[in-house]
Amino acid sequence: MVDLNHELETAKTIARMAASLCQNIQTELVHPAQKNGREPVTVADYASQALIGHALAENYPDDGVIAEERSEEFMLLLSDQHRMLVQRFVTDALGGYVFEEDVCAWLDFGKQKQAERLWVIDPIDGTKGFLGQRHYCVAIGLLINGEPVMGVLASPGFYSDMLEENRPSDVGVLTYACQGCGAYMEPLFGGENAPIHVSTINDPQEARLLTSYESGHTDLGLIEHVERALQRSAEAPVLRLDSQDKHAMIASGLGEVFLRLVPDRAFHEKLWDHTAGYVIVTEAGGRVTDIYGQPLDFSTGTRFENNRGVLMTNDSIHDLILAAIATSDF
Ligand code: AMP
Ligand code: MG
Repeated sequence: MVDLNHELETAKTIARMAASLCQNIQTELVHPAQKNGREPVTVADYASQALIGHALAENYPDDGVIAEERSEEFMLLLSDQHRMLVQRFVTDALGGYVFEEDVCAWLDFGKQKQAERLWVIDPIDGTKGFLGQRHYCVAIGLLINGEPVMGVLASPGFYSDMLEENRPSDVGVLTYACQGCGAYMEPLFGGENAPIHVSTINDPQEARLLTSYESGHTDLGLIEHVERALQRSAEAPVLRLDSQDKHAMIASGLGEVFLRLVPDRAFHEKLWDHTAGYVIVTEAGGRVTDIYGQPLDFSTGTRFENNRGVLMTNDSIHDLILAAIATSDF
């Protein structure tokens, strides 16, 4: 097994820095631009990715990167004023003057590189949650030869608007795992870590079903079908939340099922929305497949070209959900 201690410590440090920067920007309520005609992107997405790209370029210059944002869009979509804000936030975070060309270089660091090691970055997973003051996280994963081996999620909003009891922190959490080493959670800005594990709940009525906050991000028809097939009553728990905080919840035993399928058959899930969370959930004892029960194939670039949707559970209830999905015509 490869020793990933340095990579893990580096990723934890950058994830904390990036999350802190996002929190600072959030208080200034920066207005979003629209990319791909409908998805919002903010000053914080770019500043966070530039910060992460900078750290990876310094520490692992030969590694490749799959990351959500691109310098081309940064130049095209953001006003002069917003690009300067990105520069300012990255300058403040690094403590040394940063030029626009630096930001662009760090945004694109490691892209298009054919490397054995690929970092998979979502600088803000859940941008809509970030804008809505709900949930978001900074996600950093690592693939070696197409296999997910490490994941870190920095979640500033974890627990803040749900779960009255059992709060380990009201200032966010850092959740992380390395292949073969188990999964851990600790307060975002310092404190003791604790190993985390999935729950053993396998009763469909009791299982907490997690789903995207944004109803447009998933096929509610499939979720309703599964709930009917499992004869869940109207009282059975469903929690809606943004980002890979869902993965962190399943890994820490606070949820049992996350099912995601985008109705459009041409749509494939993005690697940055699942890689870090995948390592954390599987190391915590959970299971992740696509909606047909196939393992996720991480070797196909930015999208899971060989899979449809994602099913992530505490393992105990996985086969039951797959069987329920199999009775649908999705
Ligand atoms: P979630 O937090 O589960 O709602 O998922 C957030 C992710 O959904 C984002 O990181 C995007 O990659 C992805 N996303 C954004 N817009 C859409 C859309 N219209 N349909 C499906 N996924 C989307
Ligand atoms: Mg994102």
